[in-house]
Amino acid sequence: MDYNKFFDDALGRLHNERRYRVFADLERIAGRYPHAVWHSPKGQRNVVMWCSNDYLGMGQHPKVVGAMVETATRTGTGAGGTRNIAGNNHSLIQLEQELADLHGKEAALVFTSGYVSNQTGIATLAKLIPNCLILSDALNHNSMIEGIRQSGTEYLVFRHNDVAHLEELLRAHPGRPTLIVCESLYSMDGDVAPLAKICDLAERYGAMTYVDEVHAVGMYGPRGGGIAERDGVMHRIDILEGTLAKAFGCLGGYIAGSAKVVDAVRSYAPGFIFTTALPPAICAAATAAIRHLKSSSWERERHQDRAARVKAILTAAGLPVMSSDTHIVPLFVGDPERCKKACDLLLEEHGIYIQPINYPTVPKGTERLRITPSPYHEDALIDGLAEALVHVWEQLELPLYAKPMAAE
Ligand code: PLP
Repeated sequence: MDYNKFFDDALGRLHNERRYRVFADLERIAGRYPHAVWHSPKGQRNVVMWCSNDYLGMGQHPKVVGAMVETATRTGTGAGGTRNIAGNNHSLIQLEQELADLHGKEAALVFTSGYVSNQTGIATLAKLIPNCLILSDALNHNSMIEGIRQSGTEYLVFRHNDVAHLEELLRAHPGRPTLIVCESLYSMDGDVAPLAKICDLAERYGAMTYVDEVHAVGMYGPRGGGIAERDGVMHRIDILEGTLAKAFGCLGGYIAGSAKVVDAVRSYAPGFIFTTALPPAICAAATAAIRHLKSSSWERERHQDRAARVKAILTAAGLPVMSSDTHIVPLFVGDPERCKKACDLLLEEHGIYIQPINYPTVPKGTERLRITPSPYHEDALIDGLAEALVHVWEQLELPLYAKPMAAE
């Protein structure tokens, strides 16, 4: 039996559909973010990163790096096992207290990634609710969809951010235990969920709410509690889920909610029980990032300022910036091959790193570049990005909009 052929065929399908993924060999430089070194086939080159989800550059913050180094030096590296085997490491307890406080909840539970939090968290919650119906937003992340599937419970999908459709589904199932599952900020389009209206419906129809704030925690709300904090609805959402890997610059994920909900997930979730806990050094670093962002709004304000500037400069250059209410700047390409080619040209000819976003991350025909400015992208870098993009757009004969006439 030629087993390799199965895999070769599978890879061939991806190549044929022009969605075989290639990752650049990059090395970030702490203290100089967004600058990085690209270990290219032709040798080392300096590049500027424009697509990292270390949104606020906290991965290089001296407090965060310091906490990680100090904790690893003091306690060693690994956690030494699952919590069932090795107990709670003290840094995890402190991190969970910090997270519960961030979201104004009784408790929080940390997992090894945001992906695992959703997958095992949603599956476990839904299994513990008898006859549970899940109502899920059409654009929910794969980790949530996997959690829903794994729960084995009935689910229905409501049109993206469409509260009228959500209400229709709620009205059709009176009295049934229901879990509404959505994100607060959708990271490919950069749009935001109508959380207050979703909470209104949940309260009216007696449903529970589970909101993924992965692309919002640290970045929105006066203390970085996310969109729910910004919109004043954090206390109305039953379970908030987040990551430590994006705005907090580390690794790991979590849920926050009532003590009972968190204790039940801790006690039943396979993705929590059967895997080694996060190392203490990572927990301490994440705690340092969360604490810092609770009191410092410089990063949040500068982040928004940079995102607004990138949108304005790229739009003025005639580039097809897709409308977004948030820090995400999607640039429409609409074709997988040219999307990939644009990224190759940006890297090879301009030293700019942006990863192509193709199907299945976004629907076919909506392929795009997804640009994520950070507080550390200076004006000159933004101007350089616009020039490089226009050049690449012309090379690939991608459409540019007419530039607005300068005022006479
Ligand atoms: N939820 C959403 C909406 C995401 O986009 C992602 C990943 O990027 C995750 C969850 C998974 O989080 P993590 O990267 O911490 O595993």
